[in-house]
Amino acid sequence: MIWNEKYETMSRENMQAHQLSCLKKLVDNVYNKVPFYKKRMDEMGVKPSDIQTLADIRKLPFTTKYDMRDTYPFGLLACGMDEILEVHASSGTTGKPVVVAYTQNDLDIWSEVVARTLTMGGIGKDDIIQNAYGYGLFTGGFGIHHGAKKVGATIVPISGGNTTRQVNLMKDFGATCLTCTPSYALYIAETAREMGVDPKKDLKLKCGYFGAEPWSLAMRKDIEEKLNIKAYDIFGLTEIIGPGVAAECEYQNMMHVQEDLFYPEIINPETGEPVPDGEKGELVLTTLTKTGTPILRYRTRDLTYIDRTPCKCGRTTARIHRLFGRTDDMLIIRGVNVFPSQIEEVLVKIEGVEPQYQIIVDRKDNLDIIEIKVEMNESLFSDQMKNLAATEKYIAGELHNMLNIHTKVTLVEPKSIPRGDGKTKRVFDKRVLQ
Ligand code: ADP
Ligand code: ZN
Repeated sequence: MIWNEKYETMSRENMQAHQLSCLKKLVDNVYNKVPFYKKRMDEMGVKPSDIQTLADIRKLPFTTKYDMRDTYPFGLLACGMDEILEVHASSGTTGKPVVVAYTQNDLDIWSEVVARTLTMGGIGKDDIIQNAYGYGLFTGGFGIHHGAKKVGATIVPISGGNTTRQVNLMKDFGATCLTCTPSYALYIAETAREMGVDPKKDLKLKCGYFGAEPWSLAMRKDIEEKLNIKAYDIFGLTEIIGPGVAAECEYQNMMHVQEDLFYPEIINPETGEPVPDGEKGELVLTTLTKTGTPILRYRTRDLTYIDRTPCKCGRTTARIHRLFGRTDDMLIIRGVNVFPSQIEEVLVKIEGVEPQYQIIVDRKDNLDIIEIKVEMNESLFSDQMKNLAATEKYIAGELHNMLNIHTKVTLVEPKSIPRGDGKTKRVFDKRVLQ
């Protein structure tokens, strides 16, 4: 089933006409209501009337995370505070958090995109959603919550943490859908196994929506097997709205962007110029209809490519490939570019280890050194006959073959790498002050 036939199956021509009409209104609105954008546009010599085609979007300024921090907390507001109903903020691990304010219109957009997302996985009125994304300023919990209400599903707003209780309630309430970060999904699966809960027999889960952090296809497979579900990728970011900006349909073949609401561009991150469809680059998003904190051309730093061909599911909205990483989490190890997700892809395929790892990068005598701590699973750990040093060497060899990097691999005991109920920090780069 498709939640919004009108927009999700719109012809390209009509979609572009719709996007252009929204873009014109948006630019007019921010130029007149947000001094930050007026100043930027004046500096660039661009007026709202210069936007006559969709390609004219390139005349507009980009917005970066730094801009959002500089205008903290409410400098990008395009309406009075009296119209704001909800405020969220991103984690802000470095510097000030990024604040986003939602009007009723924006909350409607948010629940709409999450409703579309849940419908893609066949979730509706009869379903029970265990929402284990964190509730609070983080957009994960409330985003799913708003959308779940819209489709009429039953929400269990359990938030993250207390994993034993998660498993018990999932079993007792008969949850059919789980929503959380992929790393937390694995942790829940692990806990269920330890509790003797068999997902096949004891749980009613059909699917889950996992996002907010990078995860590999191999990790998807792992979650699907361990929880006996279909695991869908859901993408979003606070600056734009939260989860639901893009998500996978039942074919799990790239994520549909809700492009009637968020206009996607893919650019070369170095030059800022557009790249052709199918070519990898940085995703840039413009909120076409938001009224609280509308954003022009937000530089997500997320790397992906776009495909505008219609999908087998009947939706015509453009799709983006699952994220390849972020421009700012790419590690450069002795001149070789590598994303943590590529390391994960290799690790998950190795027997005897869990997809629980830490990447520690340091520099000694002017050489980058990278250590990867990987957790053994219980059976490898208890196998007295196994030569662990040989396994470590084997893993390092695989990493070298696949990624051309030299690593020191250390196998660590089961459960020794800390689990979180939200986004998991896996990279510790000691070469930079964090
Ligand atoms: P923060 O920037 O503090 O992490 P957000 O919670 O808004 O705040 O995080 C948004 C970012 O999370 C995205 O820009 C992207 O890098 C990452 N992200 C979100 N969903 C996914 C996903 N499905 N796959 C990979 N990365 C994701
Ligand atoms: Zn589809």
